[in-house]
Amino acid sequence: MNIAIAKPKLGRDSKAFLAKKHRMFIDGKWVEAKSGQTFPVEDPATQETIGQVPAGDKADIDLAVAAARRAFEGKAWSRMLPADRAKLVWRIGDLLEKHADEFAELEALDNGKPVTNARRDDIDGSIGMFRYMSGWATRLNGETIPVSSKGNWHCYTMREPVGVVGQIIPWNFPLMMAAWKLAPALAAGCAIILKPAEQTPLTALRFGELLQEAGLPDGVVNIVTGFGETAGAALANHDGVDKVAFTGSTEVGKLIVKAAAGNLKRVSLELGGKSPAIVFPDADLDKAITGTASAIFYNQGQCCTAGSRLFAHRSIYDKVVEGMVERATKIKVGHGLDPSVELGPLVSKEQHTKVAGYIESGRKDGAAIATGGHVIGNQGYFVEPTVLTKTSRDMKVVREEIFGPVVCVQSFDDDDLEAVAKFANDTEYGLQASIWTRNLKTAHTLARKIKAGTICVNNHNYGDAAWPFGGYKQSGWGREMGKEVMENYTETKSVAINLG
Ligand code: NAP
Ligand code: MG
Repeated sequence: MNIAIAKPKLGRDSKAFLAKKHRMFIDGKWVEAKSGQTFPVEDPATQETIGQVPAGDKADIDLAVAAARRAFEGKAWSRMLPADRAKLVWRIGDLLEKHADEFAELEALDNGKPVTNARRDDIDGSIGMFRYMSGWATRLNGETIPVSSKGNWHCYTMREPVGVVGQIIPWNFPLMMAAWKLAPALAAGCAIILKPAEQTPLTALRFGELLQEAGLPDGVVNIVTGFGETAGAALANHDGVDKVAFTGSTEVGKLIVKAAAGNLKRVSLELGGKSPAIVFPDADLDKAITGTASAIFYNQGQCCTAGSRLFAHRSIYDKVVEGMVERATKIKVGHGLDPSVELGPLVSKEQHTKVAGYIESGRKDGAAIATGGHVIGNQGYFVEPTVLTKTSRDMKVVREEIFGPVVCVQSFDDDDLEAVAKFANDTEYGLQASIWTRNLKTAHTLARKIKAGTICVNNHNYGDAAWPFGGYKQSGWGREMGKEVMENYTETKSVAINLG
């Protein structure tokens, strides 16, 4: 195991942001929590406190919702021409690009992820999201409907913004999750209250400064830092909110649905996964092994799409396990701010304890540990990339989302694709699956048979602003990205005109 925990230096801009007193963004102003309470933000590689942010709660959510409602109905936003809204959303992407290195550093420091990945994926992905979504501002047209009712009718639909939107996001891709949610909602003309995860609030707050610089009218985006049980629950429950968009655990997703029932606000959910990666004997094995290793070790395994159930055909099983072990042992682990590091710490003590507990449960249930299996050192939340073999369908490690760098490898001998689809689908989740093969028939047939919102052939963890993303079964409701996401942020209004 290659470990480098020494903490490298931060750039000037990141340092300047960290030195500031952090406040929340409500109605275009930077404010403290009404209660005056704050909570600490931690560097998960060193466990040092790197800042304090306001602990917003219901009182602050009430203010943010009221501000969002005023902004939604106010002239500056509701009468803004679609082309001007498009320009504004595009400008946000430009500003992010200008400060990309600073955002990548803050993300690596706050979340623990490798800065190289943060710069390439989180930040560039967020820039791309604003640019792609800006185009939808001018394309939200309705349709004319050729009705069959007797008489002389002119029927058409129009698309209107859904209104005031609460957005609750997780810590695994903090800025990118904010971008996935804010960009389409802004393009649609909604007003927003964003609640970042308690573990990773920093880039959202810095981003608020860019929104202001871009010229967004006051109250169109409000950012309230705080805890899920207080600020998050108040937002999901609020009668002044027309829609809530949530990404996080399936457990909290179900609480959001219950909370939303009060005023029947619209709900979209991106939840957990236990995604299969299936390797066939005809695959390019080198690429399949590199790809499936990245599917589980990328972002310390903290991806909702992580390829956590790896199935290898019996004829190549040993080779695949050997290849995974080799890659796991070569990964450079260390502080995310070191540009050569490939695997950082997990995000928090809670996740560290949880992942270590899953490894232990695998061990107790009879899984074999081909490599890894331990936490690393006694500072920071590091866990060894871990490959479990001799796992079976009933084990907790195979059934539950671990959200860490832990893969369960199983073999299969069926050449019958129906049987392959059956074990791939043997999960309550349905977010992603990857199929590694050179055979077109295998790829396309399985793509149809697997019950998941996204299918990747010879790749895993794919994402693009134009590519709809979301889950079947308990992985969620609705889709983000692509044109589908605009359904989340618009209502369809049908108009019937009696022409007599
Ligand atoms: P989580 O509790 O679902 O957190 C997601 C977001 O929901 C956070 O902003 C959280 O605030 C908020 N939240 C929590 N309880 C809430 C409530 N009652 N009402 C409204 N909002 C609430 O996830 P977590 O506790 O951070 O992680 C637990 C597990 O969830 C992970 O181990 C992983 O398996 C899964 N997870 C999945 C994804 C994904 O992308 N699918 C992302 C993250 C985690 P706080 O930050 O203050 O709790
Ligand atoms: Mg939580």
